Amino acid sequence: MPLRIRPDLDDLPVYVPGKTFPGAVKLASNEVTEGPLPSVREAIGAAAASVNRYPDNGMVELTATLAKKLGVTENEIQVGCGSVILCQNLITVTSGPGDEVVFGWRSFETYPLATRVAGATPVQVPLDADLTYDLPAMAAAITDRTRLVFICNPNNPTGTVVEAAALRQFLQTVPSDVIVVLDEAYFEYLRLDDTHAYDALELRREFRNLVVLRTFSKAYGLAGLRVGYALADPEVIVALGKAHVPFSVNSLAQHAALASLAAEDELLARTDAVVAERTRVSGRLRDLGYRVPDSQANFVWVHLGEATMDFAQACVEAGVVVRPFAGDGVRVTVTHPAETDLFLRFAEQWAADRG
Ligand code: PMP
Repeated sequence: MPLRIRPDLDDLPVYVPGKTFPGAVKLASNEVTEGPLPSVREAIGAAAASVNRYPDNGMVELTATLAKKLGVTENEIQVGCGSVILCQNLITVTSGPGDEVVFGWRSFETYPLATRVAGATPVQVPLDADLTYDLPAMAAAITDRTRLVFICNPNNPTGTVVEAAALRQFLQTVPSDVIVVLDEAYFEYLRLDDTHAYDALELRREFRNLVVLRTFSKAYGLAGLRVGYALADPEVIVALGKAHVPFSVNSLAQHAALASLAAEDELLARTDAVVAERTRVSGRLRDLGYRVPDSQANFVWVHLGEATMDFAQACVEAGVVVRPFAGDGVRVTVTHPAETDLFLRFAEQWAADRG
């Protein structure tokens, strides 16, 4: 007899991260290649001496430091065990059976998975022809059952961004009691011109229903420690506090995040090299005939259609692991030339073999 597990989850796939193997160059998970700074390692080491104690469940020092940095009050911030858990908790506190969660597609895979786990209904609005979130189509998809909207900006996996004017217009259109999440996991890699630039903090002040998500996993290089945060109206923060799994942000993560904020200038300076490298990699791939949209993140999207899985497998055989999305394309993390050149050499060979 089957156990009493919700049958509506039977057809739900399990999240499968990019797999790697010893000696491979991993360009599959949008991580930074450099390990933590010495000051961050030191903070982790010092925190390790007290792991017999539970971490600070209120994450008081980290919350206060973030609030000061962002110019907001502490009751506008919720720290979480990675921003992925904040996505999940936002869904949990807003949506259940019969409710709808709207987002663009293709986008971050957690949105449909966590929506289904909550028993709610994902509403996936196709990206536009430029592989960018289609905000007018998303506005049209909002119904009285919509509880939450995700905008992934820059979008994972295409790297594209929505324009500032379109974003503001969208926020003006959405009913003011529907929560809109601006997922800025790759915020530090944005280099926007005047038409695209927007200030999420300013929008947050203007629109009470806007939630901004950021993470220490990417530019701050702490993916293995799991720490991110939401910036939102205190009403949303109270609800997120109820869904917070006690002690889930461990003490090493809290201290590493604090040490990273103290060394922020040095960490953020590294993003310039990634941005320069993404321009080089995108340009070279386009010269080779690949379809690559402009990316504002630390990865590029290569549209390959039906060839995707063959391309990704051959790439693994060449020692480079990228992230394939079957029938669509691959996402390739941009790090530094010693690694990305291996990928480019493979892409050159693949293009040459296919004339
Ligand atoms: N949002 C987006 C768009 C992401 O790509 C990721 C990581 N892949 C996350 C959120 C979650 O990041 P983390 O849980 O490591 O903070």
